[in-house]
Amino acid sequence: MPHQPTVSLISLGCPKTVVDSEKILGQVAEAGGLICARAEDAEVIVINTCSFIEEAIEESLEVIHEAVAHKKAGRCRALIVSGCLAQRFGAQLRAQIPEVDVWVGVDEEHRVAELCRAAAEEKLEHCARLQTARTREPLHSHAGRLRITPRHYAYLKISEGCDNVCAFCIIPKIRGRHRSKPSETVLEEARELAADGVAELILVAQDSTDYGRDLYGGRQLAPLLHDLARVPGLRWMRLLYAFPAHFGDDLIDEVAANERLCKYLDIPIQHINDQILRRMRREVGRRETESLIQRLRERVPGIVLRTSVIVGFPGETDEQFEELVEFLHAARFDRLGAFRYSAEEGTAAFRHPDAVPETVKQQRLDQLMEVQKAIAFEKARAVVGRKLEILIDRLGDRRSGVWEGRSYGEAPEIDGVIHVQGRDLKPGGFYDCEIVGADGYDLIARPVASPFRAPARALRVLAPANGTGDSSSCRPRRL
Ligand code: SF4
Repeated sequence: MPHQPTVSLISLGCPKTVVDSEKILGQVAEAGGLICARAEDAEVIVINTCSFIEEAIEESLEVIHEAVAHKKAGRCRALIVSGCLAQRFGAQLRAQIPEVDVWVGVDEEHRVAELCRAAAEEKLEHCARLQTARTREPLHSHAGRLRITPRHYAYLKISEGCDNVCAFCIIPKIRGRHRSKPSETVLEEARELAADGVAELILVAQDSTDYGRDLYGGRQLAPLLHDLARVPGLRWMRLLYAFPAHFGDDLIDEVAANERLCKYLDIPIQHINDQILRRMRREVGRRETESLIQRLRERVPGIVLRTSVIVGFPGETDEQFEELVEFLHAARFDRLGAFRYSAEEGTAAFRHPDAVPETVKQQRLDQLMEVQKAIAFEKARAVVGRKLEILIDRLGDRRSGVWEGRSYGEAPEIDGVIHVQGRDLKPGGFYDCEIVGADGYDLIARPVASPFRAPARALRVLAPANGTGDSSSCRPRRL
């Protein structure tokens, strides 16, 4: 009988990478590989990486070097690096880090399981680099994943790549042209996930609003959401990464009418000054952005809006930055991710002459976060006394018995949590709660007397998710 390798996978990056990592783990397990939690115990270490900004590249390299140390010291026989970093820098890094056996591009990740087996049988061709075959085929199914999120929520990738041309963003070069997953495949995956106990489905893509344009001759996110709402067992759906230029009225109507869809949207605006937005190539200006926010708030009462902005884009003047600050003061987003501009080679903005000094970028970032902190704290206090349905994620503090949960307004691993004081709660259960306090960004709640609604199925033990472009939620995270 052939030797089955022990494999440990380290997943870095955003929820989109989580889906890829879960698919790799599913394929490794299906091929007979034994998954182990600790890298130091594994014969094969797979690192699924991120590289969209400097911070993510540094984290990926740090983890690769840690794995190299395991390989030198321990039982690890092979080191495989997949994902965005391998795609973007594999050719250069191959010479710099010869301990990595294979760099696997983003379109070749389905071969990781076979590489793990080859490594165990000592048939792995040392330092081979898998070329990426760029494709415009529809996105394949991610069914058969071994999920690493808690059982009651899952990410579902509806498309891959991006056809937008944002001047600061390297993602289209890494992930390729936009490719949607056929709607029947999305629905099939959703049904499979619901049958596996998923109560909250989180739809992800580089630009989720562009869904279907390549397959159906027009954007089809609204009909997809409509159909997904009929999948039995799903209680909540959540949409991430909506591009403001593609958010049409049909989509606003669907968000308003769809009872399963959380009234929560992540719409990265990146800036508000017209000149900056034009140079960022964002396809919308201040007027369109303000109009979208206003229409959403008018037509979807109680909607929670998350956005992200970049400070220190080349040429950003003090006045343009102040315009952004004033806008954020007035717009009062519920959640904000702010990033210092990171110059990425290969992007249109990379050679722009008017770089903003790093110290100025940092000052602007700090100033912006102070503004948002005051807004967020005020908004949190305003919720005290309200009744909300809360989905319990996990037991937060074993000694005090305080649970961590979320309402429709918090995406897992991205937004704050709600601390729920209650006995006999269960991860994956939904509870009617009263918000009894606010602690900075986080809320404190207590269940109100109501019949307990059990999750769809009993829970299984899972590895905890210990961590967490147009990616306000595309923060580096390590699993
Ligand atoms: S920022 Fe988002 S929408 Fe723009 S190119 Fe990057 S991934 Fe696409």
